[in-house]
Amino acid sequence: MAKSRGIKPRGTLEERLLRHVEKTDCCWLWRGARTKPAGYGVIGRGAAKDGMGLVHRVALELKLGRRLREGAWACHRCPGLAPCCAEADNRLCVHPEHLYEGSAQSNREDTIARGRVVIGDHHGARNGQAKLDDARVREIKRRIALGQSDAVIAADFEVVPATVWWIRKGVRWTHVQL
Ligand SMILES: [Zn+2]
Ligand SMILES: [Zn+2]
Repeated sequence: MAKSRGIKPRGTLEERLLRHVEKTDCCWLWRGARTKPAGYGVIGRGAAKDGMGLVHRVALELKLGRRLREGAWACHRCPGLAPCCAEADNRLCVHPEHLYEGSAQSNREDTIARGRVVIGDHHGARNGQAKLDDARVREIKRRIALGQSDAVIAADFEVVPATVWWIRKGVRWTHVQL
């Protein structure tokens, strides 16, 4: 198969990631592209078809040598002793030792993602969506109206993209008006 020229970015994913990192004695802070307005770092995973990844997630996957489990989160455990850690709370730290694969939410999120919950219930506080409330859903709807993608909104609100998709399609949280 002929290789397409000029599409694949230069360097390995790890090299490209580190190119935009400011290493302090503590955190490694991402200085590359970020989502707006939430400020998650993002990086192209490689070929165009692979899409964009959140940098702290990509950094953890490079450390683990595999993709994160479905529904798992890349969580931070920065030492919290230096100013960089406050900034890293803002999700920008990509130091491998400060990242771990979290699963506290994953079962519930996973359940929602697979659609095993009853979709007919319009009041989302039941059925495992308790961490969203009307105010947060209103904000999600506002962001949807602004044309932001499910993935970006989901990352900001720490829900799976399917949750945002359901709100977008008017399946869940229909009682919340913009
Ligand atoms: Zn850190
Ligand atoms: Zn730090």
